[in-house]
Amino acid sequence: MSLLSVNQLKKYFPLRGRFLGSSGYIRAVDGVSFKVNSGETFALVGESGSGKTTVGFLVLGLLRPTEGEVYFKGEDLFNLRVEEMRRIRRSMQMVFQDPYGSLNPRQTVGGMLKEVLSFHHVVEPDLVEGRAEEILRLVGLKPVCKSRYPHEFSGGERQRIAIARAISLEPELIVADEPVSALDVSIRGQILNLLRELQEKLNLAYLFIAHDLAVVRFISQRVGVMYLGKLLEVADTEKLFKKPLHPYTKALLSAIPIPDPGRRKKEDLLSGEMPDALGKLSGCRFSSRCPYVREKCRREEPPLVEVEEDHFAACHLIKPQAVDSYSDSDSR
Ligand code: SF4
Repeated sequence: MSLLSVNQLKKYFPLRGRFLGSSGYIRAVDGVSFKVNSGETFALVGESGSGKTTVGFLVLGLLRPTEGEVYFKGEDLFNLRVEEMRRIRRSMQMVFQDPYGSLNPRQTVGGMLKEVLSFHHVVEPDLVEGRAEEILRLVGLKPVCKSRYPHEFSGGERQRIAIARAISLEPELIVADEPVSALDVSIRGQILNLLRELQEKLNLAYLFIAHDLAVVRFISQRVGVMYLGKLLEVADTEKLFKKPLHPYTKALLSAIPIPDPGRRKKEDLLSGEMPDALGKLSGCRFSSRCPYVREKCRREEPPLVEVEEDHFAACHLIKPQAVDSYSDSDSR
């Protein structure tokens, strides 16, 4: 059984005011299925506005879906009683892009950790102090840091503190939403290495949300490529980077700087802006930017199908090689 199973998840936000002339909804997430196993990193990648962060909020139960299911260790998150949900929420934590915004500026680091440990009864009261120091060591900070406030730390150190708070509840899954994109390039590698070390030590699973493909390649075992609320391609990370199938994935990969840009195929370059997700979307969502678009693409939405073993893509031009389609049952 997977640690996390997401099944045909949808989230439509109702529109108000001057946008009411449209169908009345923004389809932020529009039928997304995937699974994350214990100790694994599954990355969601795509441009801003693709719905990745909304998926993260839905997975943590911070938003209720319009349709669909999220199972955590076999339990249906949206059909739990409040106290059951509270118990499960301890096992699922989030790390945000902006560590400063997610920390209380008036609380010392030690005070924050001790409050979390005590409130959730993670350890006996007489062990709280020692456990807080142990967590600081785990994220690469000295125990003396516990008497300092968030503004006294650098950006990278603050992200270590945010990670410390997340692991203090001994979670099994962390939703990491762009956790290194606000940091200096020189610091990013250190935080990514820390996340990998913690994954190994604590058997953590990550749902890693990012737009930077180099980061995704480094940290994840599997990747889902999102566009306008849908997954267009899902594969093992190395497979996806070595042999991308979907035109959108190829375009994203083409945007990574290489020494000789002249070797790129013109068709693979991404042009135009992603359209908005207002109203009813017909046909392939990528059709307005796809260099290979056909008449059929504008009429029919291609389903996400297994093209080769564990490699799924949603494109009319990609033919499956005698494998079953990516059904709901596959995601459990
Ligand atoms: Fe392009 Fe058509 Fe494939 Fe969509 S279905 S990605 S428009 S070729």
